[in-house]
Amino acid sequence: MGRFDGKVAVVTGGAKGIGRAAVEAFAREGAAVVAADVDKTAAQALVGGIKKARGRALAVKADVSRIRDAEKIAQEAVKAFGGIDILVNNAGIQTYGTVVDTPEETWDKTINVNQKGIFLVSKFCVPEIIKRGGGAVVNVASVQGLASQPNVVAYTSTKGAIIAMTRTMALDHAPHNIRVNCVCPGSVDTPMLRWAAEVFVPEDPEGAVVDWGKMHPLGRVAKAEEIAQVILFLASSDASFMTGASVVVDGGLIIGI
Ligand code: NAD
Repeated sequence: MGRFDGKVAVVTGGAKGIGRAAVEAFAREGAAVVAADVDKTAAQALVGGIKKARGRALAVKADVSRIRDAEKIAQEAVKAFGGIDILVNNAGIQTYGTVVDTPEETWDKTINVNQKGIFLVSKFCVPEIIKRGGGAVVNVASVQGLASQPNVVAYTSTKGAIIAMTRTMALDHAPHNIRVNCVCPGSVDTPMLRWAAEVFVPEDPEGAVVDWGKMHPLGRVAKAEEIAQVILFLASSDASFMTGASVVVDGGLIIGI
């Protein structure tokens, strides 16, 4: 018996990184999972592996910042698996810059993917969760929505917004028996973090990941699976009295001064 037997979970940005780890964990624990991602090849490869292991999964090529793609995610999930119980709004992009040097296109893209994407995908998936009599939404924010660092003004704006959205979504949908929570990870070893290491420390990206890990009191960056496990907890009945919460999963990063 899996914790999510009979449940249908949609994970955006499900092809790589934290989303991928969540897709794999949901499938292992009995859910039928939709991996929605702009990277169709990676999503299909992931789903192929899950099906080989007798799991139930579907890859949907979708850009969460486009309304028609967001609608397609919900439609395909319902067509394949009969409904939606769990939505994980995980898709996100990392961008760098101050208000002075961030190009307007970068600002717009960051807001559109990280923040508007949650609005759009929820717009179509939440009504399906309501039809099932309730369920859970987990949004992926960041410690950068709670604390900050220089040079990430667009990214950090979206992460603060996700924490605020989580609270109001929780209030709006509590009457529908839908719990809405978010996770705020510290640094996580994913393609996003590896890309940042290559860009900022091209001479020693591996060393950069180790150094960034040392900034966390636990002395390392997280594995994607460690964030996925908290996402699954929030989506499960183990978290049945939690809603509107921002759960920090950062190895102690922001507790110091
Ligand atoms: P990643 O770049 O490794 O993976 C993100 C996935 O999202 C990829 O498969 C990518 O193709 C997909 N994606 C990107 N834009 C998309 C779009 N418009 N529509 C659909 N899919 C899209 O990133 P990650 O590190 O796994 O990050 C996942 C989430 O966790 C993001 O919201 C990120 O901001 C957040 N987060 C990451 C870290 C970290 O250190 N890695 C820390 C805190 C928060």
